[in-house]
Amino acid sequence: MSETIETLLDESRLFPPSDEFRAQANLNDPEIYARAAADPVAFWEEQAKDLDWFEPWHTALEWHRPFAKWFVGGKLNACYNCVDRHAAGPRADKIAILWEGEPGEVRKITYRELKDEVCRIANALTSLGVKKGDRVCIYLPMVPELAMTMLACARIGAAHSVVFGGFSADSLAERTNDAQAKVIVTADGGYRRGNVVPLLKITEDALSLGCASVETVLVLNRIGTPSSEPRNPKFRSWGDLVLHQSTDCPCEPMDSEDLLFILYTSGSTGKPKGIVHTTGGYLTQAAVTSKWVFDLKENDVYFCTADCGWVTGHSYIVYGPMANGATCVMYEGAPDSPDKDRFWRIIERYGVTILYTAPTAIRAFMKWGSEYPDGCDLSSLRLLGSVGEPINPEAWIWYHEVIGKKRCPVVDTWWQTETGSIMIAPLPGITATKPGSATQPLPGIVAAVMSEDGRDITPVHGALGYLACADGRDAPAKGAEVGGILAITHPWPGMTRGIYGDPDRFQKVYWDKFPNHYFPGDGTKVDEDGYFWLLGRVDDIMLVAGHNISTMEVESALVDHHAVAEAAVIGKTHELKGQAISAFVILRTGASATVDELKAHVAQKIGALARPDDIFLCADLPKTRSGKIMRRLLRDVAEGRALGDTTTLADPTIVRALKDQYEDKEG
Ligand code: ATP
Ligand code: MG
Repeated sequence: MSETIETLLDESRLFPPSDEFRAQANLNDPEIYARAAADPVAFWEEQAKDLDWFEPWHTALEWHRPFAKWFVGGKLNACYNCVDRHAAGPRADKIAILWEGEPGEVRKITYRELKDEVCRIANALTSLGVKKGDRVCIYLPMVPELAMTMLACARIGAAHSVVFGGFSADSLAERTNDAQAKVIVTADGGYRRGNVVPLLKITEDALSLGCASVETVLVLNRIGTPSSEPRNPKFRSWGDLVLHQSTDCPCEPMDSEDLLFILYTSGSTGKPKGIVHTTGGYLTQAAVTSKWVFDLKENDVYFCTADCGWVTGHSYIVYGPMANGATCVMYEGAPDSPDKDRFWRIIERYGVTILYTAPTAIRAFMKWGSEYPDGCDLSSLRLLGSVGEPINPEAWIWYHEVIGKKRCPVVDTWWQTETGSIMIAPLPGITATKPGSATQPLPGIVAAVMSEDGRDITPVHGALGYLACADGRDAPAKGAEVGGILAITHPWPGMTRGIYGDPDRFQKVYWDKFPNHYFPGDGTKVDEDGYFWLLGRVDDIMLVAGHNISTMEVESALVDHHAVAEAAVIGKTHELKGQAISAFVILRTGASATVDELKAHVAQKIGALARPDDIFLCADLPKTRSGKIMRRLLRDVAEGRALGDTTTLADPTIVRALKDQYEDKEG
């Protein structure tokens, strides 16, 4: 690999906050960046004081690379902060969870009711012998009991490991065993696109694969299957065990560094990692970033479309918003069930003010057409968020115009399971946004762009643009950008405390690459305003005739074509160039374009260097269950290899069909 990443895509549209938004925003004074930079640790201490602590910390940060301890000696409880302190005050009758089931049922749960429900579940878990430090695996559909069970675990000091309800028996067994969970909490089923996902049956299959640590399986009745003979002596029903429990249950005082949860990553790049998060630092960052980035206010109706099986659901459905006493909309099912306007109907029905979703969903909405959102009243919306992948400028603009009606700031948030909370994102009352850029590291977060050989090449800024690079070399010309590898250079409160049970893998994956910095695995470029443009995973970067080219930029150029709904780009081994650019493209419903036209579009948009060698038109792309494109499998297809690990795919038949079609075409 050469030292830096080529920067091709030139996006110069700028969206400053409106005066109206700025005036009412939680943060509107840019001075906060300088204050945080002057002393990040003191800055985070100030933020931690927003939480209720049973006992104060004595040391803000102990840093023994790669392990950080934040707010050492402090005692608190995450459930107390997310539930009790609201239930005991003026928010007691405020709705905490506004839930809609896929078949259409609605439940509105106030903070007072939430506390009672959480206490019942906590007492039920205690009655099963779950104690502080034990692990509980949660394998539930997106029903309120999922959030409640997470909070119940936090209440008694047990760590939860939520496994997304779309995972198979093998995946469930693997995660249960890795965490050595004592209890699995599941349901008889969940609804997804009109079908029932048989969670209990899958759990039974997982147990038969061997889950020796599991003593009890607690089963929620969601579907209403008539109670059949208990098939396994470990099964206990929710009705028998939870409903009659007392609504009193004390909150366990937890050390700031006690385990809060384990969560397995999406598995885009390989075997999932059991990411560990502790209590005080994680909750501090989740809470303040919700307030900053979403501008969360008392009267907001906040809708995050993620599943609690992903980190986004942990930090931005449960812990972050609820630490702020927010009203959170939770939806069980698919965005196109019964029709493709389901999200827009939900927004209209409940007057949603903040929407947080993923680029993969936005591209699907674009493909389905604007008539679905146009048919609903979206006037309650005031802010839009994006997370999960780089957002292509074209999708950003569509989101801004068609959903936000040009009124709502768009916040593109870069972070990962390992970082716990948002790291790079706009502050909507301060930052002028640029489509496709996550903009700048949040106050208190220090990030850099590195060369492949480990030099810090972050441009140092002056009023007129670059002054120099951090490593002392001359600054690039004005208007140019610096492309390389993203690094986080200062410890932050929400950072993972490791991979569960595997400190060596933790060191190797994240800390071997650079001697002093955290390596997230993503490429980035930084422009002359100090804005970060995430370029996708470093593993996916292509090396074409000596140039490092990011998949994201070529994909964005393709998506920029009016006929293209989605594109995935990979580097395919080429005997002369090293790698040749190969694209898989899905066209918009009813649209058409020739391969030559698409190649020409890329060449015209970002340069001949990035012109794809071949483009394969297809109907679907292989994605993880969290909706991310799995490029490594597309490389296997293009290079005629056997497919690698497909266990984290949402639908393994897609990539098999793609492989057959591709091989037919290639002859
Ligand atoms: P695994 O680590 O197991 O391969 P994963 O990385 O997909 O899985 P997550 O932690 O859910 O698991 O995803 C984090 C990654 O998603 C980031 O490292 C980055 O590649 C991508 N990502 C998330 N948000 C953004 C964003 N706003 N812009 C660009 N990339 C993003
Ligand atoms: Mg990752």
